[in-house]
Amino acid sequence: MKQAKIPIKFYNTLTRKKEIFVPIRSSQVKMYTCGPTVYWYQHIGNLRTYIFSDILRKVLEYNKYKVKQIINVTDVGHLTSDADEGEDKIEKAAKKEHKSAKEIANHYLDIFKDDLKKLNISSPKKYTKATEHIKEQIELKKKLERKEYTYKTSDGIYFNSKKFKNYGILARLNIKELKAGKRISLGEKKNKTDFALWKFSSPNEKRQQEWSSPWGIGFPGWHIECSAMSMKYLGNHFDIHTGGEDHIPIHHTNEIAQSEAATGKKFVNYWLHGAFLLYNKEKISKSKGGLYTISELKKLGYEPLVYRYMCLQTKYRKPLNFTLESLEAAKTSYERIKNKIIEIKKQTHKGNDLTKTYESQFAKAINNDLNMPQALQVFHSALDDFEFSPKFKLSLLKNFDSVLGLGIKDFKEEKTLIPEEIKKLVKEREALRKLKEFAQADILRQRILEKGYEVSDTQKGPKLTKKT
Ligand code: AMP
Ligand code: ZN
Repeated sequence: MKQAKIPIKFYNTLTRKKEIFVPIRSSQVKMYTCGPTVYWYQHIGNLRTYIFSDILRKVLEYNKYKVKQIINVTDVGHLTSDADEGEDKIEKAAKKEHKSAKEIANHYLDIFKDDLKKLNISSPKKYTKATEHIKEQIELKKKLERKEYTYKTSDGIYFNSKKFKNYGILARLNIKELKAGKRISLGEKKNKTDFALWKFSSPNEKRQQEWSSPWGIGFPGWHIECSAMSMKYLGNHFDIHTGGEDHIPIHHTNEIAQSEAATGKKFVNYWLHGAFLLYNKEKISKSKGGLYTISELKKLGYEPLVYRYMCLQTKYRKPLNFTLESLEAAKTSYERIKNKIIEIKKQTHKGNDLTKTYESQFAKAINNDLNMPQALQVFHSALDDFEFSPKFKLSLLKNFDSVLGLGIKDFKEEKTLIPEEIKKLVKEREALRKLKEFAQADILRQRILEKGYEVSDTQKGPKLTKKT
């Protein structure tokens, strides 16, 4: 087995403990990330969850593991209520936007992929669409049927959660309390926690996306897609499954039940969940609207990577309350990093090679359940360490950035367009200096400064820098 120097520890939702990570196969980690429901833009809350899974993946890669990651695309079957009721989100959006379900799904999927790129989130091995895996989902349902885990109601085929011994283990669901409660309507279901594997198309309404199956024309339930696709690409038993914390009580609970019922094996070893991004201290979902998109932040003057940087400042398991003030603070800090890196690229002085010291501090932080706030502290200490040789420092910071993803290799001095008015003032000041009218020249320097530019005198002539 390949042994990382500093063991990697993750908080496993399944055991509610921080555990040392041991992959099933020594050379490769298999990881499934619950992806977007593509009926609308992913907001910055959704994207916080993908930044978290990207960091997880990059930390594994930093530890020299090969990661096979799958992200699914929910383009059918996710209903407006998680309790198998309401309209299909994609069909509803298609009606509203007068487009086909496929057009809606492809449109929002393209924007999602674009947003991930802007946030320096690595592409998965494959994006898997639910509509392209209907056959696999039907096969899985047949297997569950053969093992007598299913039953039929007037609107679909359901999974009988009572038959699965460990149902609700991930969320520590108190099934007895749920049974007594009124929160979930039972309808024709045998148990409140049962869920749809296949829904029949309603005879009163023509759906755009429907398929024939051994049980009748209809469409798959949302949970079965993730079980079918993860097992197809990663095997019946794989290493890591991720998603937002809202998936714990229903979606992931149901994935475990149907996968383990079908195979008789443990489904996933490590379940990792990202906490929500809050707005005004409230949980905001995409269907409620309310959180910004990446493009909206850009219009307000915030680069996507400033948002990534802001997310790294909080541990992934802690809710993060979003405010434009904290984003502004992140922007100032990000700009400072950028200016410092540009400066280091030009430095030539000698110094000590402190790579090993900082490297081990960084590895300790990231391998400790992705402690990114601490990793950023190490990054800043190395950045500001004057004793550290600029050459070795730059190379180490670039290495750290393979995890942080702040894009430091692309930091360049921006060519700022100097306004004509400033150029004129600089010329006038030069003329005064030649005439040794230094007091007058200083007044002009002050005027230039007030307009946001600093002029310094070099051997090659005056040099202008824009103040940030
Ligand atoms: P959806 O497109 O609604 O299926 O959600 C995509 C991902 O975003 C899922 O992993 C959700 O758990 C996650 N998510 C939804 N809302 C938020 C939020 N406010 N903060 C963080 N993650 C979220
Ligand atoms: Zn899923």
